[in-house]
Amino acid sequence: MGPIDIVVENGRITQIVSVGFPGLPIDPERRPPQGDFEVDCHGKWVTPGFIDSHVHIGHFLHASNGEQAPVEYVYKLWLAHGITTVRDMWSANGLGWTLQQKAASEANEITAPRIMAYAGFPSNDEFLNIIHTPEEGRTWLRGIAERGADGVKFYGASPAIFKAALEESKALGLRTGCHHPQMALSRLNALTTASWGLTSTEHFYGVPEAMFERTSIQPYPANYDFMDEYLRYNSSSQNFIHAAEPGSTKWNETLDRFLELDHTFVPTLAILEANRDLMRARRADWHDKYTHKNLWDFFEPQRQNHGSYWFQWSTRNEVEWKEHFRRWSAFVYDYMKKGGRVCPASDAGFLYQIDGFCFIRDLEWFQEAGFHPLEIIRAATMRASELMGLADEIGTVEVGKCADLLVHQENPLGDLKFLYGTGALRLNDATGRSEWRRGLQYTIRNGVVYDTAELLADVREIVAQSWAGANIDTLLGQDNV
Ligand SMILES: [Zn+2]
Repeated sequence: MGPIDIVVENGRITQIVSVGFPGLPIDPERRPPQGDFEVDCHGKWVTPGFIDSHVHIGHFLHASNGEQAPVEYVYKLWLAHGITTVRDMWSANGLGWTLQQKAASEANEITAPRIMAYAGFPSNDEFLNIIHTPEEGRTWLRGIAERGADGVKFYGASPAIFKAALEESKALGLRTGCHHPQMALSRLNALTTASWGLTSTEHFYGVPEAMFERTSIQPYPANYDFMDEYLRYNSSSQNFIHAAEPGSTKWNETLDRFLELDHTFVPTLAILEANRDLMRARRADWHDKYTHKNLWDFFEPQRQNHGSYWFQWSTRNEVEWKEHFRRWSAFVYDYMKKGGRVCPASDAGFLYQIDGFCFIRDLEWFQEAGFHPLEIIRAATMRASELMGLADEIGTVEVGKCADLLVHQENPLGDLKFLYGTGALRLNDATGRSEWRRGLQYTIRNGVVYDTAELLADVREIVAQSWAGANIDTLLGQDNV
């Protein structure tokens, strides 16, 4: 609605005032008193800030390919794409570090979104595995709650430990999300853990397993090895093929069960896109100016890096993943239609996906799944604020809430592509030439105004420095053809 004046004081929205009618001059009598600073929004659109429900603020895994990008790189990519709140799903640099960053961001000491710190539950993990009994799990959870964690990210666990941990988390007020890894799925699935109180299922793992009809464990090939990522991702495209058909009775019953439990899905479609179209992900328009060299080197085919299993990726793999996407996005779309909560997220830093851009791509995936752009914006704002327990603070433009606002110079409902840091490619009829047009002008978080053009220029500078001495052939891997 508009024309509207939004008044912000001390980081909060204090007034929302209608100042006239569309097509007529603004009525100066109705305007609130002039403030210290005014953002001219004539002819523009304002939405709530976006919430990225699954991120990693840098990841120690990237250190295997040289010096990592500075944390400023991801923070500025997020803000430049309208992301004013993130949920860090592991605190991979250590919970203490994430909590320190969260506090610095809250105090406006650093340029960063609001950070929700979820600690990684160290059981059943390849890197750190220190919890072996339910009691050890409960003690560990009490420790992180005391330190100020917002929630816990699980990566499976044995059923007795997992059930006790979810019970304890609930008692402590910790929210919970889980990536259900294949090792856990012979004993539980996403419906099992949702019924034990899990807040959200990350990705898709564990969902088709809740709808298996002709099998109870995925029929893995005999040579399956979870640690061989080519075999792992070659097989995980087939989980839905073994599950109930979209629209079937079992499919709908499963959706209803999740709905009764008020469960949330964070499908992270975009991060997995390279699986269905490797060339698209690898040659994205933004790589040359926005992809840090450390990430590029990490993404390229190799056996030891997470998500870099392209050394034998085939046409068959892509075709199977396209079918997988069709079924998985049908599932989350059906869930949303029934009233369920589905939240967009990036999980970037792997599989040729970089922060900010990957989140906008996920919004595009929601549209391809069937969501209307209004349903997408709602999912990325209000619904995600509910997921994190922040619905009283953020997620909508309302008096009393934090001033997390986006100022768009192109209507995002008309085309989500305007939200990309690179913009959308458009023909300028006045000049007869094509140009990249960006929609998002300002990202406002807690009342602090960030100019997205400045944020993006800073990111390009960081990226250019990381590539100093290298050339475009190196970027594209053409130097050894
Ligand atoms: Zn993740």
